[in-house]
Amino acid sequence: MGAAGKILVSACLMGHAVRYDGKAKPLHHACLDRWQAEGRLVTICPEMSAGMPVPRPPAEIAEGRSGADVLSGRARVIEATGGDVTDGFRQAAENALRLALETGCTHALLIDGSPSCGSRRIYDGGFSGRKQDGEGVAAAILRRHGIRVFADHEIEALAAEIDGRPI
Ligand code: SF4
Repeated sequence: MGAAGKILVSACLMGHAVRYDGKAKPLHHACLDRWQAEGRLVTICPEMSAGMPVPRPPAEIAEGRSGADVLSGRARVIEATGGDVTDGFRQAAENALRLALETGCTHALLIDGSPSCGSRRIYDGGFSGRKQDGEGVAAAILRRHGIRVFADHEIEALAAEIDGRPI
């Protein structure tokens, strides 16, 4: 068992107050503590790495599309206040990918629901609180390059896959 692949992890999951609302969303789990102790976590906030401020307006991928559509130029990322932040979100995703490849990450554990880090569910672009199946821009680019992406609520499945045991 043990010190195999590294894991790219959302900074807000690690307690960093980097979300659009200026808050963190820490996950407390024995697996995270162990991976941290083993030096296997690589922390990034993709959006902050692309120079986005904290706090910032909430943003969603427009018109019910997903991260893959943003990468291929078929969808935009729009702030609730109307700004087009598509280029910034693409840069954020590329930064996450570059760091993952440079540091040998085989897996990622990202907070679900975010237009960058979401990997199972994202908001539908209407700013009405509705979510749909889909992934954010960073999750999409990581998967495209073979990195196995898990949502925060899938941490035990990640542990089982990467270490062959749940905790
Ligand atoms: S981009 Fe990812 S790490 Fe940064 S605040 Fe959003 S969900 Fe958290």
